[in-house]
Amino acid sequence: MSFYVKSNDSFVQEKPVFRECPHCLTHAELIPQASPSFASLIKSRPRHAGFVFECAACKEPRFARLAVRSFGPDQVELSANVVEIERAKEHFHFGYLPTAVGLPLREALDCYTADLHTAFGVMCRRAVQAAVANTRATGGPRLLDLFSEVIQLAEIDYDTSQTLQTLLFDSCAPEPSITAEQAAVLIEVVKDLLYQCFVRTAKLKAAVKMRRFFAGETTQKVTPIASLGKKIHSG
Ligand SMILES: [Zn+2]
Repeated sequence: MSFYVKSNDSFVQEKPVFRECPHCLTHAELIPQASPSFASLIKSRPRHAGFVFECAACKEPRFARLAVRSFGPDQVELSANVVEIERAKEHFHFGYLPTAVGLPLREALDCYTADLHTAFGVMCRRAVQAAVANTRATGGPRLLDLFSEVIQLAEIDYDTSQTLQTLLFDSCAPEPSITAEQAAVLIEVVKDLLYQCFVRTAKLKAAVKMRRFFAGETTQKVTPIASLGKKIHSG
């Protein structure tokens, strides 16, 4: 399948393209909005050209580059492999995290989205070290124990787990370089660690508090049989 910019500047695609949107996270159609003119492509003969699409679901603009396949007398043929400039952001329940943990984690996830794997690792170390300090001060769970559990549950191989342990917990050792594959494991490990440590605890406490509140309200509204008997008797 190809895309074409025709000599009358129209943009033609053989089939609609659907991709996950970095803004609304819906698997939505990319609707063409703007393309370079035929004349400008013929003049500069670039290897890649930039296009603007619109997300069919949320209407946000989506910027993409397409590789040029050939220059013809009446059309320029482009690859249908849409390389989006903006990528889907990684999400987390940041509202539950202490600021000292949330700030480096936000940067870490941005680094991951940008394929900056070692920078991602360095920011993960900061976030986890801040979490260690926080849980030490508040008597929360030991992160190293949680880490060992995650490694076992996810059946992560020895070499990867050693690299991740050095990265996250051995703050005296220089940060090891992280490959794309190790980064893919690291993101799940760090998200799970911080979820267990902060989000799960806070959600559980809030749920228990709410259940107790409603249970208390129900008990107050129901008049106990004993006091009902007294009322009838005295009335
Ligand atoms: Zn969207």
